Amino acid sequence: MHADPINLLGLDAPALTQLVGQWGGKPFRARQLQRWVHQRGVSQFDEMTDLAREFRAQLGQHCVVQAPTVLTQQRSTDGTRKWLFDVGQGNAIESVFIPEDDRGTLCISSQAGCNVGCRFCSTGHQGFNRNLTTAEIIGQLWFAKNVLMQDAGSARLEAAGNVQVGNAPAGHALASPDPRAISNVVMMGMGEPLLNYEPVLAAVRLMLDDNAYGLSRRRVTVSTSGVVPMMDRLSQDCPVALAVSLHAPNDALRDQLVPLNKKYPLVELLAACERYLEFAPRDFITFEYVMLDGVNDTDQHARELIQIARRVRCKLNLIPFNPFPGSGLLRSPANRIRAFSQQLMDAGIVTTVRKTRGDDIDAACGQLAGEVKDRTRLREKLTMKTSIPIKEIRP
Ligand code: SAH
Ligand code: SF4
Repeated sequence: MHADPINLLGLDAPALTQLVGQWGGKPFRARQLQRWVHQRGVSQFDEMTDLAREFRAQLGQHCVVQAPTVLTQQRSTDGTRKWLFDVGQGNAIESVFIPEDDRGTLCISSQAGCNVGCRFCSTGHQGFNRNLTTAEIIGQLWFAKNVLMQDAGSARLEAAGNVQVGNAPAGHALASPDPRAISNVVMMGMGEPLLNYEPVLAAVRLMLDDNAYGLSRRRVTVSTSGVVPMMDRLSQDCPVALAVSLHAPNDALRDQLVPLNKKYPLVELLAACERYLEFAPRDFITFEYVMLDGVNDTDQHARELIQIARRVRCKLNLIPFNPFPGSGLLRSPANRIRAFSQQLMDAGIVTTVRKTRGDDIDAACGQLAGEVKDRTRLREKLTMKTSIPIKEIRP
């Protein structure tokens, strides 16, 4: 085997077709392989029974299917799940699965750390470590999907009165998969996706690919702090749903909260949103607005925000601030959030307030810090908090 095997999780359809083509394989072989890897979650080539033996041998020699190693998994009392993945050199990233009645949303990370440095974000406080590869981004989805499929499989077996089989091959669902378990993916974990453009783009294409995850463009959301040129590129390369982290209704305040605003001020950001809408799969942009006590939550801020929201077709998502140690900020009180959202709704702006989920496992927005620098401390902390024992998991 080569020193560095190719991780198939990192190859989108054209790249995989090219690889298979190098060995004389037809494009449909690449599609078959893609389905084994992404739809069925199989990582062992000898289990891909409808592929020719020589092809499997070639794959075994040159390739692997490998998600980042999972360090911990936690489950909240409300069903939210969080995974902490090791991405090497003391870096970790996190993914969160949020089940709801009508959908299941997986929130994934695009970078280890982030260098945008927003005041209210614990990832930002951590600083930038490195970009994730496509395999590491897709690996979060691949892994979570497999775990959820296995759980659904065992639940069905248990419901049918069967004892769970313990010898199912690695990477297999135990029973027929429920492909709707993850219906939505949002890039709202750690990192700024549009500052890691190419790997994120390849990952998004795989999410949409019918031979991989088959998600609709409306159900894959890229969230950005406002990297204007990359918003334009995304609109051309692969328009998916877009969320823009606004957080302030004027430049003076936004400069302080989201430092990237100094480079791409509101007038440019809003113009980019309008351009994006010409290509977007939804006819609105989601503006995210974190509610910070006494900072951006007054009646005057709401009035300014209304002016902005009237310029761009949008929905506003108010996020109660999730505090973390050392932030020096507080969450707006519930009655202030209510009054603020009412003021927006009275002006005809579609406004929602995000429910905080997974509070007991620090799984809420902005709390994903991926701290593993001190694993001992992390493990102690998790042991105290989790309902699930810490273990190494490999599907
Ligand atoms: N970098 C991208 C995506 C990751 S952050 C972005 O900024 O959009 C995802 C969302 O979580 C953003 O809207 C971000 O502003 C919000 N967020 C960050 N820290 C938060 C906190 N402490 N409380 C609530 N929301 C937070
Ligand atoms: Fe980075 Fe987004 Fe956090 Fe800002 S809010 S520091 S852009 S991850």
